[in-house]
Amino acid sequence: RAKHEGKGQYHYFEQQMDELARKRRETEIDLKLAIEHGQFELYYQPLFNTEEQKINGFEALIRWNHPTRGLVSPLDFIPLAEETGLIVQIGEWVIKEACHQAATWPEQIRVAINISPVQFRTKGLQSVLIQALTQSGLSPQRLELEITESLLIDNVAETLQALHSLREMGVRVALDDFGTGYSSLSYLRSFPFDKIKIDRSFVDDIMSDKGSAAIIQAITGLAAALGMETIAEGVELEEQVEMLLKNGCNNIQGFLLSRPVPMAEVDALITALSGKCRNRKVA
Ligand code: C2E
Ligand code: MG
Ligand code: MG
Ligand code: MG
Repeated sequence: RAKHEGKGQYHYFEQQMDELARKRRETEIDLKLAIEHGQFELYYQPLFNTEEQKINGFEALIRWNHPTRGLVSPLDFIPLAEETGLIVQIGEWVIKEACHQAATWPEQIRVAINISPVQFRTKGLQSVLIQALTQSGLSPQRLELEITESLLIDNVAETLQALHSLREMGVRVALDDFGTGYSSLSYLRSFPFDKIKIDRSFVDDIMSDKGSAAIIQAITGLAAALGMETIAEGVELEEQVEMLLKNGCNNIQGFLLSRPVPMAEVDALITALSGKCRNRKVA
């Protein structure tokens, strides 16, 4: 009887796997169509400096306007886009679109773009960036690339060289989601980052866990000593801002200030947020 049940279970899993594989193939086909039919859209979330009380940039976050599924989150299609290599084309579109849109913003405002490790390792990245900057007229100092720690593990020499040539172009580089991967402090010494983005998980725990606050303080201190900026991700509460300031972090991003918004709402947001968080500065 056990044997019989085992077999039934096996069939059940097999069916689940088939179903999963079918869904993935469907999404892959849909993704290809999405590229052709221009179904992607960039939303923008402000990067805010609490000292100057001003937005100094926006992070571009991709959304997929799916004809039947509605607005699809990147978490639901970026992994498959990476596995299939479609991320390279999608990422090129992101770079061009973000540069063109950012070129219409006030001079002091940057745009940050997420670069997948798959895309980072393609030969063509640099020329795509140069082309997008030239065609849009956006100054390279206003472009910031967000990469994650996973990129720093293998091919260290190559990655280092690529990062240096990006910075020679004048483009800025930020280390995204810091603290989640195999975070090694030696990365910060070896790689030339302009900015460290402290992962949301530390911000989530900052009120309840002394350890999180201490880690944030250590990261901001180290970053400052190395000439890098820090920004905290996922700030949702006023009291988190206060704790972040106490621990040396002056830049924030999160739902407290704004959710990611469509391009059409960017200008209004710049106006609405200037002077916000006025009383947040800690002596
Ligand atoms: P990320 O780069 O770490 O982006 C931050 C994510 O946190 C965004 O999710 C943003 O909406 C969300 N977020 C911001 N503030 C808060 C907050 O206060 N609370 C909470 N709970 N969440 C907050 P989103 O837009 O769903 O993007 C998820 C991830 O997808 C991004 O994480 C990034 O890794 C990836 N992604 C997004 N756009 C692109 C893209 O154009 N290219 C690539 N390669 N990856 C992208
Ligand atoms: Mg990011
Ligand atoms: Mg992030
Ligand atoms: Mg994150």
